[in-house]
Amino acid sequence: MTTINVRHETMRIAGQRVDNDRRIEVRYPFTNALVGTVPMATLDDVRGAFRSAAAYKPTLTRYERHRILQRTAELLLARKDEISDLITLEAGLSKKDSLYEVTRAYDVFMLSGLLCLQDDAQVFSCDITPNGQQRKIYTTRSPLRAIAAITPFNHPLNQVAHKIAPSIATNNCMVLKPSEKTPLTALLLADLLYEAGLPPQMFSVITGDPAEICDEMLTSEHSDMITFTGGVAIGKYISGKAVYKRQLLELGGNDPLIVMEDADLERASTLAVNGATKNSGQRCTAVKRILVVESVADRFVELVTAKAKLIRFGDPMSADNDMGTVIDEEAAELFERRVNDAIVAGAELKYGHQRDGAVYGPTVLDRVPPEAEVVLQETFGPVIPIIRCPDDIEAVIRISNATAYGLSSGVCTDNFKYITRFIDGLEVGSVNVWEVPGYRIEMSPFGGIKDSGLGYKEGVLEAMKHYTHLKTYSLPW
Ligand code: NAD
Repeated sequence: MTTINVRHETMRIAGQRVDNDRRIEVRYPFTNALVGTVPMATLDDVRGAFRSAAAYKPTLTRYERHRILQRTAELLLARKDEISDLITLEAGLSKKDSLYEVTRAYDVFMLSGLLCLQDDAQVFSCDITPNGQQRKIYTTRSPLRAIAAITPFNHPLNQVAHKIAPSIATNNCMVLKPSEKTPLTALLLADLLYEAGLPPQMFSVITGDPAEICDEMLTSEHSDMITFTGGVAIGKYISGKAVYKRQLLELGGNDPLIVMEDADLERASTLAVNGATKNSGQRCTAVKRILVVESVADRFVELVTAKAKLIRFGDPMSADNDMGTVIDEEAAELFERRVNDAIVAGAELKYGHQRDGAVYGPTVLDRVPPEAEVVLQETFGPVIPIIRCPDDIEAVIRISNATAYGLSSGVCTDNFKYITRFIDGLEVGSVNVWEVPGYRIEMSPFGGIKDSGLGYKEGVLEAMKHYTHLKTYSLPW
């Protein structure tokens, strides 16, 4: 039985702890026990947070930002167990997943701390055409006014890290609203940042009911930008609402793992099962569809089924389990319903499809019709749906591109002609050969096209560019 020290939290607004009696409850998805409560912000709270953020003009040197980011990274490691416990309690992720998440957040802060030391300024000599002059044009970057950030539940720490670390690296002030399902880790992170020396005006965390407060966040006269990670529906709503603001939208995915006839099926099946089940399948870049060519499909399905059976799942706090719960029972019921519909439409259930509350085990489906909802829509859970494709790369590409999403992809083949054709032909933001679609490092460009995003990337370096105004100045030199 897990003992829970219930946390009754306050918001953090420019260093003030702001509270009220209207509360949101956060519950442990495995037992439904209370983990904590957070206040529901009022519109005045939101306005106050943006006013303070816009009024504060950070003056931290690059060295000072570097030190704060490095100290935060070190604090995360020093308190890794406690932080991963909190992630597991509010999200139901296994301890393996939540410990991994803390180490990813370490990378985000560590890399941001290094990257902020480097100035990306450019110099253009102007005497290079017949109309040229003896001048030089230089570039310099400056922070925005307040940045609004909204994050999803699936990585309660790392999603927030990817917003705030580049914001600090560029001397910005950010107002964050974490998911109402997982707000507690974000508040803990705010405290670590303050402990590391961050001026509190540079990071406020507000909590509450999105229906009440998000429009104010999206339209605040004090902010220049909204950075959002979450689902397509809300992302598209934001794109229409946050008029004349810079928008960074990282939305849902429906990423394929593609297996061609020459692939090492042992290796491909390991990628398939890991990619579909890590973080309980709740990654924007989880393997959500497996496209395997018919000539090797029988053997591949056998291997995937055998490996799925090895995944241990259930009690998220048990160190032996690979997978905990999904975010809540409602989500698990949705997967169950979609799998049932796929079976009615002709898919074959190979393993799994057992639900107990918010615990839904790895579920292998073979012969899934490409138009079944379980693969046409984003199924944000540990379903492993296999679509058999003709032995023809153009047909595979057509099936892969036939959803509205375009985030990432993984490709299992050693055939160089195939590899170049996939890099050209897949309508996605990333193609990873012999890796899961989610493979990245925290500073490499990351993000999707089509319904997965507008093509503007995240990842520490790209985010630092989006969070700044680029100014040029020229000198008679
Ligand atoms: P969600 O879209 O339901 O919620 C995301 C955030 O939006 C939450 O903080 C929520 O409170 C807020 N929100 C709700 N209504 C809003 C409104 N009207 N205006 C503004 N914000 C509002 O997503 P979720 O269920 O928390 O997360 C899962 C989704 O996130 C999946 O689709 C997943 O693929 C996506 N995701 C994308 C990436 C990426 O980098 N592309 C990464 C992780 C997750």
